[in-house]
Amino acid sequence: MSMVLRHGMVWDGLASEPIPADLLLDDGVISGVYGVGKAPGGALEVALDGAFVVPGLVDSHVHLVWSGGPDPVRVVDSEGEQLTVVRAVANARAQLDSGVTMVRDLGSNWDIAVTVARAIDRGIVDGPTVVAAGRTVIMTGGHDPFWGIFSDGADAVTRAVRQQVSIGAGVLKTAATGGVYGQSEGEEIGQSELSYAELAVLAKEAHRFGKRVAAHALGTEGIRNAVRAGVDTIEHGVFLTEEIVEAMRTQGTVLCPTLATYRALAEGPEVPAYAAEKARTVVTAHRESFAMALDAGVPVIAGTDAGAPHIGHPSLVAELEMLHDYGLPLLDALRAGTSRAATALDRVGGVIQPGAPADLLIVEDDPFQSLANLRRVWGVVRRGTPVSALRNRVRHG
Ligand SMILES: [Zn+2]
Repeated sequence: MSMVLRHGMVWDGLASEPIPADLLLDDGVISGVYGVGKAPGGALEVALDGAFVVPGLVDSHVHLVWSGGPDPVRVVDSEGEQLTVVRAVANARAQLDSGVTMVRDLGSNWDIAVTVARAIDRGIVDGPTVVAAGRTVIMTGGHDPFWGIFSDGADAVTRAVRQQVSIGAGVLKTAATGGVYGQSEGEEIGQSELSYAELAVLAKEAHRFGKRVAAHALGTEGIRNAVRAGVDTIEHGVFLTEEIVEAMRTQGTVLCPTLATYRALAEGPEVPAYAAEKARTVVTAHRESFAMALDAGVPVIAGTDAGAPHIGHPSLVAELEMLHDYGLPLLDALRAGTSRAATALDRVGGVIQPGAPADLLIVEDDPFQSLANLRRVWGVVRRGTPVSALRNRVRHG
């Protein structure tokens, strides 16, 4: 079914500013970008009257199973598998309604995000495209053990990668260091976890199957191991060094800094004490590491850790604002949440071009004036189909 969006201010995900244009969507794909008044007629006609159209947003780090309350691990424990599935579906829907049309889910109990990804692909429920890791590949007892596959040594790591590939995971997630939130004892931020040799096996095996690798890493030694092993994205990236950011720039290793989550852990109410205390030790270093990566020209994408303590579904615009506050130019912040993210996830999307998926966010005011304008949703289109708000604005032609 075709749909024409007339007279939008269209930003294509790449250019330095929006331009006035009509868009023609056919069978879930953008089939044409025209000057205003130039698009042919469609079965459905939408008058945008100068509203701003941007590619559907991409949040490159979420956990759909998590609630975004002060202690989501405990919520999963108390709710159990079935209710957690329903919660994940609802979180996916909330992301979509805000204009996030793609998420990368980097860890879920019982591989739930892989199931949610499949349900959305099959049209059983509405949601964003989910690039899901499912369970993560970690050392015995390592970071986020509740959804980890304990894998020690090359054989175990190889088996875990193949297991996730076989169930349909879209990306592999590992932990190169300990973390801040998840378990009250048994892990430290600066402690490296899977070794360089294990990470190298993991990356090679994942890449053999065309899957990218995301590494949780916020200690210098572990980050160095992960970058050298050839992972594709570094998640969090606290305690970077000049030598590491130079290696990342040279290799094209992408940084997904998740800036807001550690501040939320440090400052939010009712966060478990062990996590709040650890978070307070990283907030300043996180800012300095991010600045170092920016200066070096490391590619940056936007991920929120949505679902983690006090990071709800959705939270992407707040992360974009924080990236910008911390020195990322506004245009680069917009790209970090659209075109650059889709490229890093190895997916077609995050752009408004003929042939791209018809995933769009329409907002009333110019996001180049203020990123906050991305919160004023006029409508959302996913795969050519109007979502919620826009449904009421469509006229059948
Ligand atoms: Zn995470």
